Order: sequence, then structure tokens, then C-alpha cells
Amino acid sequence: MTPIVRFAPSPTGYIHIGNTRTALFNWLFALKNGGQMVLRFDDTDVERSKTEYVEAIAEDVEWLGIKPFRVEYQSKRFAEYAAAAERLKAAGLLYPCYETAEELDLKRKLRLARRLPPVYGRDALKLSDEDKAKLEAEGKRPHWRFLLPNFKDDPFAPVRTEVHWDDLVRGPETVDLASLSDPVLIREDGTYLYTFTSVVDDIDMNITHIIRGDDHVTNSGVQISIFEAMGAKSPQLGHHNLLTTATGEGLSKRTGALSVGSLRRAGYEPMAVASLAVLTGTSENVVAMPDMNALAAIFDPASTSKSSSKFDPADLDALNRALIHAMPFSDAKDRLAALGIQGDDAEAFWLAVRSNLTFVSDAAQWWAIVKNGPASDEPLADEDRDFVRAAFDVLPSEPWNHETWKSWTDAVKVQSGRKGKGLFMPLRIALTGRSSGPELADLLPLLGREGTLARRP
Ligand code: GLU
Repeated sequence: MTPIVRFAPSPTGYIHIGNTRTALFNWLFALKNGGQMVLRFDDTDVERSKTEYVEAIAEDVEWLGIKPFRVEYQSKRFAEYAAAAERLKAAGLLYPCYETAEELDLKRKLRLARRLPPVYGRDALKLSDEDKAKLEAEGKRPHWRFLLPNFKDDPFAPVRTEVHWDDLVRGPETVDLASLSDPVLIREDGTYLYTFTSVVDDIDMNITHIIRGDDHVTNSGVQISIFEAMGAKSPQLGHHNLLTTATGEGLSKRTGALSVGSLRRAGYEPMAVASLAVLTGTSENVVAMPDMNALAAIFDPASTSKSSSKFDPADLDALNRALIHAMPFSDAKDRLAALGIQGDDAEAFWLAVRSNLTFVSDAAQWWAIVKNGPASDEPLADEDRDFVRAAFDVLPSEPWNHETWKSWTDAVKVQSGRKGKGLFMPLRIALTGRSSGPELADLLPLLGREGTLARRP
């Protein structure tokens, strides 16, 4: 059977690197196992869900290199949820409750005082049809709870009921249904909760594996029961650890911090973001993987740590540099052209400068240095001026190639008696206006003799 996974973000904000981890755990699992991925927008919360976020998430997913074979929207599936709810109601597994939030709070406190677990005591199950009719006549609207299968004959006497699964990430997991309240699946205003809609969708979309954050572990115990109540078998479950910032704070979609879009706009490569999002908190070193297949090859959900993992966005710079240093011209070509870097020497230029760049866009500064003249970052020291002028007088004649730098500096060494840094640094500064940068042996042929002479101080 072809594995089918899903990434199911709620479009209530921009996705961040933690959501990226969930998306990629699913995508890599699909890649590794010949599977497919559904992108499902959990947008039943009409007030907080925004089209703007749907569009941004779809763009981020594509930019990361994830290719869903199907895109679904929960907001278009209300008829399916209504039908599924009717089936559960008919089976007596979804029952109406009329308590207000204040009443529920009071009941919880009373249970705690009587040393009972602070779960919902199922008082609504005691309501007769008459009671319900009376409440409805008073204008009360019910919310609907799912009757958890945590009792033998008497729903008012729950017994320890363990739900087990072999978690793809965490290994054997157990949730005791007696420790939980019957979950609300439909709110008073008729809107559905994710706990329910997700199960309906996972059944209809033939999802075989669910991989999501470990904040959903308890939820899984409940959802396995709902799958069974609906006559289906739960997909296999995996819960990965969550990422936190270096100071240990969780990531929030609502703040927009470290959103995938902001990283993209800052110039990071998708594989730098993907490598950090996936490899942090696993037994693998966090290194830049060149493409999704390479990342899939080392991806092993079972090697993921069970506790939350800190990640440092500053690591993205090193990952990005590693990717750019190895990036072939063919991959960079179009982006360089968009920066105005094109022509016969564009490839030689790229190969000369790439190992000095953090972002592809940094190439533009070096292109300006090669084409227009030195930067003004590092002035030539007065005491080096005569030395550099004399050095320019012994520039070799053309044609120039990769050896020209060595033959020139050999000649300058003999002429001046200088060597090492005292020889090379003033020449570098005169040529580029910077004290560090690409190999001058590579740059010199790009400058050409005329372009070099024009830099004589
Ligand atoms: N919309 C849910 C969330 O963003 C999806 C959880 C799941 O994958 O089931 O947390």
C-alpha cells in the first residue's frame, strides 16, 4: 500500500521552522517510502484562518521543495463533517451537553475537592429527553461530546483503559482514556473541533501515517478512539519533539518570528532551512544536505530525541555558506542573472567568489568590485602606497590566467624584498578595497590587465 501522509497546518499565521520540521518529517517519510503527501489546510476556525496565510504557507511549502499531490481545505468539507457527526450521534457516541464554561469550572473544582480527577463527570448523560427539550426551549444550544470508551457498563464509573500504539518516533506509547474528559467535538455554535474533523479527513483521504508534534500525544489517544468509533483503523502515528529557541521558548505562528517567509526573504537556501529543521534534535550532526533525497537518505524518525530541542538560527549562516560554497554555476545562473551578473565571465566569476559568500546575493558586491573598481571598506595605508605603485609597474603582460598572480607576486617579491602578509595584503586592498575575499589568483584574470592597472593608486 502506498503510504499517504499529510501536513495539516491551521492557516492562522505564517509557518515557522518548527512547522517546517513537521512538514518535512512527513515529506521525507513519503520520499523514503515511495509515498505521497496531502497538504491539508485545517481552516475550520473561520475567524482566525486567513487566505493570506493559506497562500503564504503554500508558497513556503513549494519553496522548501515539498510537492503535495493533493491540496485540501477543511472549510470545504462541512457536509462530510455533518454526516459523520450524525453517524456518531445515532450510535449514541456523541451526546449533547448544556453546561456553560462557568458551570464546568465549578464542577471541576468540586471534583478536585472530593479528590476525584478533574475530568468531565458526564452529567449531561443523565438528562432525559424532557430535560433537553426544556433546556432548548430556554434557548440553550448544546455542545457535543464524544463518549470515550473508558468504562465497562457504567459510563459514570470509568476504569483504566489503555490505548497503545507503536510511535514511529517515540516507540511504544500509552494513553489512559480514564484520565481524560470526553472531548467536545462540536461547539455550541455548531462549529467543529479539529480533533474530529482531522479524523474524518484522515479516513476519507486514506492517510496511512500521521507525523506531528509531540504536543498531540494525548490527542492521539482520543483520536484513536474516534477512528475506531467511526469503523476505521487509526493510521500509524509518530510524534516528533518540538523545537524551541536558544532561550528555550516555544515558537509561535502568531508572532511571525523565524517564519519561513522571512528566512526566504533574508536569502537563505531552502536546504539550509530544511537541514536545520530536520536534523536538530536527532542523532545526526546538523550539516547542510544538498537536496531532499540526500536529506531523506539520513532521515530516521526513530533517532529523534524525545525531549524538546533548542535550535540556533545563527547556525543557518554556516549551513547556507556550506551550500553556496558547493553550488554549481548551473544552479546559481538564473539568480545571478537577476542580480545583473551575466556574460562570458559569469561562470568563472561565480567559481571565484562563491566560497566567500553567505548568500547568493552577496555576489553582487564582488561583481561591482570586479567590474567597477575596489570597494571603499579598507583604505590602503599611506606607507604601502609606494610599494603598491611599484608593484603595478611589473604587472606581467597578457594573456592572463590562473598562474598570473603567482608570477606577478614572485616578481614583486624580488623587486621589493617584501613577503607574506606585508606583500599580499596591500595588493589585495589596492585591488579589491577589502582585506579579505576570494583568491586573488582567481580574481586577477577576471580583472584583466587593463582593469588591474586602473586600480594603481
Ligand atoms: N492543524 C493541526 C495543527 O496545526 C494539525 C495537527 C495534526 O497534524 O493532526 O496542530
